[in-house]
Amino acid sequence: MNDAPASVAPPAGGNAAGNLEGHVTGVRRLMRRLRDIMARPGTAQERLDRIVALVAAEMVAEVCSAYVMRAGEVLELFATVGLRPEAVHRTRLHVGEGLVGVIAATERPLALADAQSHPDFAYRPETGEEIFHSLMGVPVLRGGRVLGVLVVQNRTPRRYTEEEIEVAQTIAMVVAELIASGDLVNPLEMAQGRGGGLLPVRLDGISLNPGLAVAPAVLHEPRLAIRQVVAEDVAIELERLRRAMAAMQQAIDALVAASHKLGAGEHREVIEAYRMFAADRGWFDRISDAIKTGLTAEAAVERVSDENRSRMAQLGDPYLRERLFDLEDLANRLQQFLSGEAPGPPVADLPPEFILVAHAMGPAELLDYAHRRVVGLVLEEGSPTAHVAIVARAFDIPVVGRVQNATDRIEAGDIVVVDGDRSLVLIRPSEDIHQSVAATVAARIERRAYYDTLRDQPAVTRDGVAVSLLLNAGLLIDVAQLAATGAEGVGLFRTEIPLLTRDAFPDVADQTEFYRRAYEQADGKPIVFRTLDIGGDKVLPYLTNAAEDNPAMGWRAIRIGLDRPAMLRQQLRALVRASAGCDLRVKFPMIAEVAELDRARELLDAELARAAAEGGTPPRSLKVGVMLEVPALLWQLPALFERIDFLSVGTNDLVQFLYACDRGNPRLAGRYDLLSAPMLALFRQLVEACRAAQMPLSMCGEMAGNPIEAMTLIALGFRTLSMATTAIGPVKTMVRSLDAGALARYLDEIGGRPDHSLRGRLEAFARDHAVAV
Ligand code: PEP
Ligand code: MG
Repeated sequence: MNDAPASVAPPAGGNAAGNLEGHVTGVRRLMRRLRDIMARPGTAQERLDRIVALVAAEMVAEVCSAYVMRAGEVLELFATVGLRPEAVHRTRLHVGEGLVGVIAATERPLALADAQSHPDFAYRPETGEEIFHSLMGVPVLRGGRVLGVLVVQNRTPRRYTEEEIEVAQTIAMVVAELIASGDLVNPLEMAQGRGGGLLPVRLDGISLNPGLAVAPAVLHEPRLAIRQVVAEDVAIELERLRRAMAAMQQAIDALVAASHKLGAGEHREVIEAYRMFAADRGWFDRISDAIKTGLTAEAAVERVSDENRSRMAQLGDPYLRERLFDLEDLANRLQQFLSGEAPGPPVADLPPEFILVAHAMGPAELLDYAHRRVVGLVLEEGSPTAHVAIVARAFDIPVVGRVQNATDRIEAGDIVVVDGDRSLVLIRPSEDIHQSVAATVAARIERRAYYDTLRDQPAVTRDGVAVSLLLNAGLLIDVAQLAATGAEGVGLFRTEIPLLTRDAFPDVADQTEFYRRAYEQADGKPIVFRTLDIGGDKVLPYLTNAAEDNPAMGWRAIRIGLDRPAMLRQQLRALVRASAGCDLRVKFPMIAEVAELDRARELLDAELARAAAEGGTPPRSLKVGVMLEVPALLWQLPALFERIDFLSVGTNDLVQFLYACDRGNPRLAGRYDLLSAPMLALFRQLVEACRAAQMPLSMCGEMAGNPIEAMTLIALGFRTLSMATTAIGPVKTMVRSLDAGALARYLDEIGGRPDHSLRGRLEAFARDHAVAV
């Protein structure tokens, strides 16, 4: 075994191309030897012993050890040359403990010339490792899980090269196959170690799409087992890769065509972006390079995915991290084409309705399932801007993301509740809970059917007050909901939302096209576009990433727009161009003083003049408004009213500034109530001021979509409410059952009370007067 010269690291000196060639040849020879070891008869333990011996010799290391993951997240020394043999199966380290544990926890290689001075070094006397100074270890990964750690050590302080680390990672893939065969550690041990047994379990996450569902779980297992890691013939593997890539690209074209049938919406852009990823030459080249080191095409794809995973997992930027899942989706698809199996999940085995559980998922993977009754989705990763979340929204699938260890704790076939409204997942709920959730889901379906019947009915109270119900939109899919909900228009288009899923700021042409599509989707109904409200909780990594102590009160919205006028002008130019011949309604966010509005208005006028000079068709009409989110504006109303065509209240921000209470701080959630005397007094005065000045007033904060709060607003005099799509049905139902005059009189009676909240009294009113809230 020890007859091979040290050959995997390029020799010092000589020309670089020659070095690389030598390195590649060395790696290929090593791969051949590994293949021989795997093919030779013997137990899995014997193979592992031979592998560590080969690695020690090839890498000129005094020690090579393989640690294997056991139940309870413990790494056990399974094979070694160089450490004391009696330590084998005795030395155990928890994930995170010692350098081996750190490699497992971070899923990253570690190379240290002086390992013992590292703060995480954990000395185990039974191993006799005190004489070894340098250490290099790589995680043994398979399907995104750590199965073990492979380590080499040297007596002298040694700097391990990038090439050596890569070689170790390649060998780790062979070790992963050995561990995954189940002959070293009984797979049942790992299954039992998951804990939880058959008891009900509640897991918390974050809501990526609201809604409720209950059904048996299907575990998304995208990764196919790689049958062979070491290539017989590199040229054949390269050809296999080329063919699989071509077949995959064709299939993605078909997927894009199919997704177009779903109608317009962001999911289309997402799939287009995915197609571009698939055509990326850099990805293909990296896989080809990995094949040239002696891997099969399948192993090369896995190798590049592992690299992507560990590189991108380190990125702090959530947007870029999310793109990793698109890449993984592609890699899984490519594996399927390489294996010759039909792409997509095995249709025949799927239950009629199911909850899909996955570590992470790309948009195309969900599309593969979507027409097969996925009723809910649970992800261990994910964020609201993830492409998979956007596709889920197009299908109205509730999604809870960032659910830790979901794929370990949920078994296929377990009954699972996905509660996207409360951001939680229940596994194996008791029979009563299962039944009660199923009844709620059924009632919701029935209620939704009822809301559909209201679509063309007017939103008029029992005493004849007409209320305009509008939608809040951020994506084109939301605009498409105008027809389905019967909403009169879009009262707030949050133009920053589509930007959150992009990796560069769109140019004027892109923006114009996007707004044009919004007009198209609206089909003649009005849209109020709000200019960019970036900053606060909506961070665009490519624009600003300076941390602020109080971002909600920081450099955001119109403040950025006025400080970066070119950006705001480009947006206004796009809006002016897109609204040629249509009604252009624009509002500016976070205006704190009239002077800011004047400056923003100047930019808009300049763009209108520019469009006129260019001979473009002007908008048919123009209305300009502001969001009332900053309390200071309340004391500038007369001057403001001279300059605007409408005023729109944004309670989400207004309340946090009035009560000095961060809207995103969970410790303060519910601390102050919108239905309290100061808020109601503010609304009352505002309504009066607007009425006197004949200034159209609307509300587009979340408050407008909450039936009991909307009820109160109507009684106070609001006649235009803009809300999330799902709120239209419940609010319209409330409006049609309300006697606004009776509630206004009741509010006159109770409005001045210094109570913490008037909610209880308003709920009692609704009960007593049969108002459907
Ligand atoms: C608001 O502040 O109420 C509002 C509608 O704006 P956003 O929620 O987008 O900050
Ligand atoms: Mg706001």
